[in-house]
Amino acid sequence: MIKIVLTLVIVVLALMFWFGKGRRSGNASRTPTPPRALTMVSCAHCGLNLPQPEAVEGEGGRHYCSAEHRRLGPGAGAGG
Ligand SMILES: [Zn+2]
Repeated sequence: MIKIVLTLVIVVLALMFWFGKGRRSGNASRTPTPPRALTMVSCAHCGLNLPQPEAVEGEGGRHYCSAEHRRLGPGAGAGG
């Protein structure tokens, strides 16, 4: 009789271990984002190069290094 109980315990433990392992390896909800190349843009006013996420977007798809330069608009030579 004790053998049946022991077998059950071993089976339950094995299942818990197996499912626990499967959950860990199968869980892909938190994958670290791979480093991607930043798109560099230049300020339409002063020509400063900066990453696009840090740039301030202005009219006509132009990018500026700051809100101040966006307010001032494109610099000389842009012709707009
Ligand atoms: Zn600028």
